[in-house]
Order: sequence, then C-alpha cells, then structure tokens
Amino acid sequence: MITGLSDAVWADILGYVRTHYSAFARGWFSQLRAGSLKQGQLDVFAANGAQLTYLREHCTRPFVEAAQAATGRLVSVEFLNGEESGLEVPTAALQKTRELASFEGETALLRLNGDYVFDNFVPGPCNRLAHASCLAVSDSPGTAYNPLFIHGNVGLGKTHLLQAICHRVLDRAPATRIMYLSCETFVNHFIEAVERGILNRFRYRYRHVDMLVIDDVQFLSGRDRTQEEFFHTFNTLYHVNKQIILSADCTPPEIPSLEERLVSRFNWGLIARVDAPCMETRHAIIRKKMKLRQMDLPEDVILLIASRIDSNTRELEGALNRIHGMAALEHRPIDLALAHEALGGQEESPLREVRIQDITDLVTNRFGVKLSDLTGRRRSRSIALPRQVCMYLARQLTHHSLEEIGGFFGGRDHTTVLHANKLISNRKETDTGFRSRLEEIEVALTKGDR
Ligand code: ADP
Ligand code: MG
Repeated sequence: MITGLSDAVWADILGYVRTHYSAFARGWFSQLRAGSLKQGQLDVFAANGAQLTYLREHCTRPFVEAAQAATGRLVSVEFLNGEESGLEVPTAALQKTRELASFEGETALLRLNGDYVFDNFVPGPCNRLAHASCLAVSDSPGTAYNPLFIHGNVGLGKTHLLQAICHRVLDRAPATRIMYLSCETFVNHFIEAVERGILNRFRYRYRHVDMLVIDDVQFLSGRDRTQEEFFHTFNTLYHVNKQIILSADCTPPEIPSLEERLVSRFNWGLIARVDAPCMETRHAIIRKKMKLRQMDLPEDVILLIASRIDSNTRELEGALNRIHGMAALEHRPIDLALAHEALGGQEESPLREVRIQDITDLVTNRFGVKLSDLTGRRRSRSIALPRQVCMYLARQLTHHSLEEIGGFFGGRDHTTVLHANKLISNRKETDTGFRSRLEEIEVALTKGDR
C-alpha cells in the first residue's frame, strides 16, 4: 500500500525528533522531504550527500521511533539522496562531508563534522590566539604559521578548530588535498602499512597532500617507529611549504617520550593554547549550540548551566542534552527547577529544601537587620550588603528565577540580582573572613541547622 504522507504527519515526525533526540536534530532538518510511505517504509530525502551521511550515521533510530509515534504504525525509514532522486530540495550548506582528491585512484572521504565551522565557534579570551591563528592559517596555508600547534585540555575546542580550518580551506579552494585525521588513525595506518608491506603507498598518501592536519598528537608518545615515520612525513611536507596543523593535550616538550627532533620541529611554527572558557564565553557557546539545534531556553537556565559547568565545553552540551531530555521525558516546560534537577544531585542536593524565608530569617539574624529593610527600597550601605547576600543565597540555593528574587528584595530587576551574585562571589574569593561567615550561613541553611 502506498500512502502519501501529509504535511501534518511529517511535521509531527520532525517535531518528535527535535524533542526526543535534540542532540541529533539539526537546523537543516527543515530541508528534508518525506517521500511516500510504502509497505511500512518511509523514504526521507536529504538535500545532499553530506546530509545523507549524517542521517544514516545518527538518525535511523530517532526517525523510526518518530515515524511510528506519528503514524501509530510499524514503520521503517530509509534515507535517500534527494539530489540523486531528482527531487527538488533546497541545497544546504551546513553539513558537509568532503570528498578528498584521490590517492592512487582511490577516493578517500574526509570525515568532517559539519557543525565544526568557524561560524559555530565562539572566540573569547580563553582561545583568542588559537582562534586567530587558525583563521590566519586557513587564509594563507603554508605561509602564515607552519606548523601550527594547538594545545589544551580535553573538551576545549581543539578538534573543532582543526576541522574549521579544513572547512574554510575547502570552501575557498575545493581542490586542496587535505588529510585530516586523528593521530591514532595515523598510527594504525602506519602499523597496517608495515604489516601489509605497503609502506610506499602509505608514504605516497601522506606526503602528497597540500595540508596535513593531525589531531591529538600526544598519541605518538612512546611509539618510536611511528615517530620516525612521522618525522620524515613532516620534513617532506614542510620543505615544500605544505601546511601542517597539529593538536595535543599539552605542549610539545610535555608529550612523554617524544623524540627531541620532533619536539623541536613542533616548536618551529606557532604554538597556541586553548584555555577553559570564562563565564561570558560559556554563555555565548550555549547560545550558539541552542541556535544550532533550534532550542529555546530561558535566560536563567542558560546562566545556571554556564555557572555550573566551567571546565569543559563538551560538558555544556551534555548539560543541554540532559535538560532537554528530562523536559521531553516528563512533559515539563524547561525552567530553573527542572534544570537544577537535570544537572544533578537531586538526592544529595540541598537546593530544593531552602526557602527564601529561611534565607531572610538567617540573614536578618546574623546581620542584625530587619526583614522590611531587606525587602524595602532603601539603598544605604548597611542594608545593601545583607540584601546582596540574600540575593546570592537565593540564587545559589533556591529555584526562584532572577526576576522573582529581584522582585522579592525590593522590586529590583534581574540584572541587580546578577550583579549581587557576582559581587558576593568575588568577595567570597578574596575575603576569607567574609567567606567563612557566608559559608557558615550556607551550611546552616542546607544542613537544616537554622
Ligand atoms: P577537544 O578537541 O579540545 O577535546 P572539541 O573540539 O571536541 O574539544 O570540543 C568539544 C565540544 O565543545 C564541541 O562540541 C565543540 O563544538 C565545543 N566547543 C569548544 N569550544 C567551543 C567554542 N569556543 N565555541 C563553540 N563551541 C565550542
Ligand atoms: Mg579533540
């Protein structure tokens, strides 16, 4: 039986995927077209080969589940290329898997994540030099900085930057022969080439590229034969001004048992570090990721994620997924309470038990002020500090939104609460006497000893 799929059902399917599988959903899903539903199989047409690859790799289960939920029937899903099928589909630029110029007739696929482009990367004080040097190298490969060495802890955007260079170079000069791979793959290729006796082919492959991009070169550590091979690959490319870009989780001399001659070569060009992002950058990264997934989050939830997760950018995405997942599962709107729960430690977290009244009771007591002072509009210094402490505690320990907290403490707006929060956090960092006083209140509040 052949059934045409109505627009409404198709919209349901997409909606289901966006809601239940937000981590996999992409903005360009709106470009997908549903074909017919034949004998329990739904054809879904991608706008290009890159979308198709992505869909086949990540989206079968989400779409099958969505199709079954939307039609109430057992349905399987097949992804097809709309271009090849001659179907009218808008061309998409977002997701690109690149075809690499052939090596000895074989066509290798350059596997790049379509999301890892410069447009989706947020520059900030933590990655300024790395970002600028990656841009410079993509604009003039082989001349700006060679080699370019990006290092930093895990989850801080090294792979994203390396792939962004590849995308940009290929956008400008599609015929560029780029070899992008993880160092682990390089090592495995090398071992395989040795075992199969095809070292010449291996060498040809790696030494006839315009740009060699190797991620996580700390993987060379202790692998003497691969280091030797890599040394020659490096020299060959370097001497003909081919761009080499490397990343690692530490600086070249810090890579354990890396030959001295490689350390010195890695130092020839530019070494740039990526650090953990500051609050503003984290905030901007969350916004970018939301945009990419067409998600919408209230401002206080964004701030909560940005303030809770501060050392690893990848975990910001994990947090977005958890929050979205919980909202979908429990059919709840995304608000601060839900975000607190999703971000963990419900059982051990004292957050849900603290009420604003508990805070004001303690603060009036410890600071010797009256409740009406805290909730009034007076601005005198003696009141300002305890009021800011209240706002800080309410922000940290309750689920109330910034607006609610501001409103409660004298009809102030959310920026006042943010300001108070920052002020008290800073003072806590720098003034140990103040910190112990505050911590004593926090403990009293959360451990119930009020
Ligand atoms: P690394 O290779 O350093 O371990 P990745 O490049 O894999 O880190 O980055 C982890 C995740 O964080 C990716 O989803 C990446 O897009 C994201 N990310 C890291 N830094 C940024 C940034 N400055 N702007 C946008 N996304 C970022
Ligand atoms: Mg990486």
